[in-house]
Amino acid sequence: KAAVMDGVNVDQEPSIDSIEKTMAKSAFEKLQEDRKTLPMYPYRDDLLQAINDHQVLVIVGETGSGKTTQIPQYLHEAGYTKRGKIGCTQPRRVAAMSVAARVSQEMGVKLGHEVGYSIRFEDCTSEKTILKYMTDGMLLREFLGEPDLASYSVIMVDEAHERTLSTDILFGLVKDISRFRPDLKLLISSATLDAEKFSDYFDCAPIFKIPGRRFPVEIHYTKAPEADYLDAAVVTALQIHVTQPPGDGDILIFLTGQEEIETAEEIIKHRIKGLGTKIAELIICPIYANLPTELQAKIFEPTPEGARKVVLATNIAETSLTIDGIKYVIDPGFSKMKSYNPRTGMESLLVAPISKASANQRAGRSGRTGPGKCFRLYTAYNYMNDLEDNTVPEIQRTNLANVVLSLKSLGIHDLLNFDFMDPPPAEALLKALELLFALSALNKLGELTKVGRRMAEFPLDPMLSKMIVASDKYKCSDEIISIAAMLSVGNSIFYRPKDKQVHADNARMNFHVGNVGDHIALLKVYSSWRETDFSTQWCYENYIQVRSMKRARDIRDQLEGLLERVEIELTSNDNDYEAIKKAITSGFFPHSAKLQKNGSYRTIKHPQTVNVHPSSGLAQVLPRWVVYHELVLTTKEYMRQVTELKPDWLVEIAPHYYQLKDVEDSSSKKMPRGTGRAS
Ligand code: ADP
Ligand code: MG
Repeated sequence: KAAVMDGVNVDQEPSIDSIEKTMAKSAFEKLQEDRKTLPMYPYRDDLLQAINDHQVLVIVGETGSGKTTQIPQYLHEAGYTKRGKIGCTQPRRVAAMSVAARVSQEMGVKLGHEVGYSIRFEDCTSEKTILKYMTDGMLLREFLGEPDLASYSVIMVDEAHERTLSTDILFGLVKDISRFRPDLKLLISSATLDAEKFSDYFDCAPIFKIPGRRFPVEIHYTKAPEADYLDAAVVTALQIHVTQPPGDGDILIFLTGQEEIETAEEIIKHRIKGLGTKIAELIICPIYANLPTELQAKIFEPTPEGARKVVLATNIAETSLTIDGIKYVIDPGFSKMKSYNPRTGMESLLVAPISKASANQRAGRSGRTGPGKCFRLYTAYNYMNDLEDNTVPEIQRTNLANVVLSLKSLGIHDLLNFDFMDPPPAEALLKALELLFALSALNKLGELTKVGRRMAEFPLDPMLSKMIVASDKYKCSDEIISIAAMLSVGNSIFYRPKDKQVHADNARMNFHVGNVGDHIALLKVYSSWRETDFSTQWCYENYIQVRSMKRARDIRDQLEGLLERVEIELTSNDNDYEAIKKAITSGFFPHSAKLQKNGSYRTIKHPQTVNVHPSSGLAQVLPRWVVYHELVLTTKEYMRQVTELKPDWLVEIAPHYYQLKDVEDSSSKKMPRGTGRAS
């Protein structure tokens, strides 16, 4: 305040504008001071020297040392942006957005101008952008348009230790272009110490270590395994909150996903109420991939005096985001993992135990600003004997169809000899080739077809892209891109408040009238919303999340643009559901299943038992033949987003994949029960 008053003429009131400017300036100065306190800062000049001296550099430093936010700024300050952009990849969307927001503040520029981010379906960059944060998957897509990345002077593959599929593929691609672009600097940064492996892969690139500042962390294990880790996590957090003074430090709980985080939030709120008014305020901050942007910033807000923050986070807080002020970490020991069975070609998401490396990263989050404590909700025996040392790289446990299609579009044909850091199982590669062949994206020689080329334009999984490309034939591209957009939003369309579950369920079932199936129901939701001119009120009345709908609209707009690019006309067939379902089947025929006597289903090609997800509109209907969007494994293997189909469509649409005998109904030769409703 003194600074504002200084020099102000008593006759003149200082204008609000000038006060704001002065305050803004001091906030800016504070940020500049903060930058200098980061562990990275004393090594700024040495690092710049090393980057100057070497084309490829591996950089290792503890989470929170300033790698992601500082290195691109140092490079900019040193003049690298005169030769081209600096690109920095992140495995997670939220991290790319949040870090870009932070760096734009530190540089005092508007987000999207000099500093921007690019994630799937959301490009927040402009002509001016010189520091570009993006997901690893987006950089992979940029290769399709600019195979030598000519507009970049530096590429920083950040969070390399995460070893996501896209990061692993990027390794091979950037290594390759670095050979014919000697001016391109390549930085591989990682939070863990297995940097040797990165160095070896990049032809013995030197390793630059940023010495960590880590305080001791006390590890506590449970004496016996916890039956309900969610409950145990909440109890532990509340115990800490009640017994420790609030100014003492915040709490971070690692959970597996949005649903679990929301449940935990409710339980905590409920129990806090029961503790009376003498308890210090507990601020609950959730953070997960689909958390709306406006709410993401909350986790970084300083905790007010006399209160305590409890952050409920997914793996994202393990190394991607650093939250200052955490003293207590609660680690139930699980995360959501993709798993893939190359034999059946089935992929599903499941909750699985983390690795020792992850457990140690999690614990480390508590010792950043002072001594910390980590409560592991598993036994020491569990830790020693049951946890794997390291998480298996994603490339070895995922469906590869998407990257194979991208690599083929880049003209990389010999995939078995691609320079992988850890090669995927040959079986998984073959499976991907097989699927792309089945979808007619590749021909018998494994070459990209015209269909495949069109599919590759869409930033979607091949089956979704194929569904869109096929919609041209069925004259329903308008409906199909709405469905694709709604599916891409994930399962956060319907809203089901605890106290109004019946109302919410009734509202939802309105879209299922006629047992049209989940895909058509999603289409009806979208079309109805569009008819109301995208009304927010309508969403409230129908228990639909406005935010998810807006995202669906954005995605749909982009898909519409891409249709034009691949020369598919936007056509609507006025709700001819059969045509729409055939287009869906054209993409998803490998995901078809047939009802069994006991009410479960068997997938047709590689028989496996699956079930209709209870949230499906067809959960009570159980049609004889279905096509599904994806499998999720919880208590059982569930099909999510299910639509009825007629078995003859399979032979009609994919004669190279299904023969008559696959789809013959052994129990009855007449039309299967229930299929009449499909048309
Ligand atoms: P590293 O990449 O080495 O893990 P970062 O550069 O992400 O480190 O973080 C450096 C510092 O910047 C941390 O202290 C962190 O708290 C702060 N920071 C990073 N992102 C944000 C943000 N979005 N809001 C506020 N502070 C942030
Ligand atoms: Mg980082």
